[in-house]
Amino acid sequence: MDITEPSSSASQDAGPRDLDPRDWDAARAQAHRMLDDILDHVQHIREGPVWQPIPDEVRAAFDAPLPWEASDLADVHDEFKRLILPHAAGNPHPRFMGWVNGGGNVAGILADMLAAGLNANLGGRDHIPVDVEKQVIRWMAALFGFPEGSSGLFVTGTSLANMIAVLAARADALGQESRVEGVGDSGLVAYASTSAHSCIAKALDMAGLGSGSLRLIPVDGAGRIRTDALEQAIAGDRAAGLKPFLIVGTAGSVDIGAIDDLGALADIAQRDRLWLHVDGAFGALGKLSEELAPLFAGIERAQSIAFDFHKWGQAPYDAGFVLMRDEAKHRAAFATAAPYLQRHARGLAAGQPWLCDYGPDLSRGFRALKVWFAFKTYGAAAMGEAIANTCHVAQALARRVDEEPELERLAPVALNIVCFRYLGPDPDRLNAEIVTVLQESGLAAPSTTVLDGRLAIRAAIVNHRTRIEDIEILVRAVLRLGRDLSRSGVSA
Ligand SMILES: *Cc1c(COP(=O)(O)O)cnc(C)c1O
Repeated sequence: MDITEPSSSASQDAGPRDLDPRDWDAARAQAHRMLDDILDHVQHIREGPVWQPIPDEVRAAFDAPLPWEASDLADVHDEFKRLILPHAAGNPHPRFMGWVNGGGNVAGILADMLAAGLNANLGGRDHIPVDVEKQVIRWMAALFGFPEGSSGLFVTGTSLANMIAVLAARADALGQESRVEGVGDSGLVAYASTSAHSCIAKALDMAGLGSGSLRLIPVDGAGRIRTDALEQAIAGDRAAGLKPFLIVGTAGSVDIGAIDDLGALADIAQRDRLWLHVDGAFGALGKLSEELAPLFAGIERAQSIAFDFHKWGQAPYDAGFVLMRDEAKHRAAFATAAPYLQRHARGLAAGQPWLCDYGPDLSRGFRALKVWFAFKTYGAAAMGEAIANTCHVAQALARRVDEEPELERLAPVALNIVCFRYLGPDPDRLNAEIVTVLQESGLAAPSTTVLDGRLAIRAAIVNHRTRIEDIEILVRAVLRLGRDLSRSGVSA
């Protein structure tokens, strides 16, 4: 039915003000300057400090009253350039090696801008942005060897993706009634290794099962869960009348990058009818690399996988993701009915099931676009090579550490994380000080971890921009600081 009206010319500047620019030409020119500035920043990121200590007056600028009056966009942008840009954490910098942070990418910057222009809400309804997210879900299902019809969802990060998996496993174990009646005294228990990320225990806590329902199983010398100990723990809990329901395997542990034997975990899960979830926050996208893919054997047998595009995937924050083998179980754990969210066969309210049926969020941004853009722009092969390259750089760092008599490596390098320390008096305090001074110098930013009670300098090579010359700068700086600080007696 054609009910269109003849198009009217642009409305005149009258009536109440909307928030659009009064002078579109000026706004456009300013927009181009802002785009150029941020691209300059990324292009020349290597030349500046990784991070710098934040002056009091900069921080004080963010304790201002709510601005009721307007300012020029250009002035606000100047403030951004002066106060915010130089004082960001610096994870796009090639010598940011702390924690597990991705470096971002240019396709993602631009896609995020386009996504903001569309202002799409991917909670539901019938529009192609939803199909873009579903496209990425199908790509990931194929990558990880999941069946056709698997479901998935973009979320903030792996913390929430793990939580979604825990909730799906919980609903599967206790039945749909539990969504109405609550979990009560369920007796459910879950298993992960002592190297599992702290967000797993937090997810069980938030799921109402208590973080105490997570059994932390010891690891072997390579940091992988000990499957013999896992089997014993499951048998012991069953004998005690408890209900084992979930094994969380880790594919890339935060401390040293260890990957659990996922095939063995799948065997145990299958035999004991437990849900196998894999926390592959940073590691799982190693599947994109031909060289690394074999390390993840068995991941295709999991019920669910959580990972982050914002780590090894190099997407701008944030872009967490959960993949689920069984779409019906996934939806059964989250779908709800509300009259104003009714679905129809045609019109804008069509296209069900909606993505809000697969997680806690109703309104959802278009995170999928930056990932879709990156895969298409760079190609999955190049993204996999960038990931493999971080492992090569880490291996070079490990060799460099092994060559230096003043340095000691503290863990095997499974993937891209190197833990080491400077050998000197009071090594825990010395190495903590080395890391702090290094960060303050802006030269490089590793972080620390504790392995077997020993404080380690932890360099996680996650950023696609990091090269061998960057690890050389890191090693030389650690040696210089180690010598200076041991001489001046940091422990005094
Ligand atoms: C980073 C990380 C998480 C948490 O992911 P977020 O995206 O920060 O929420 C969980 N598990 C592992 C192994 C991680 O490396």
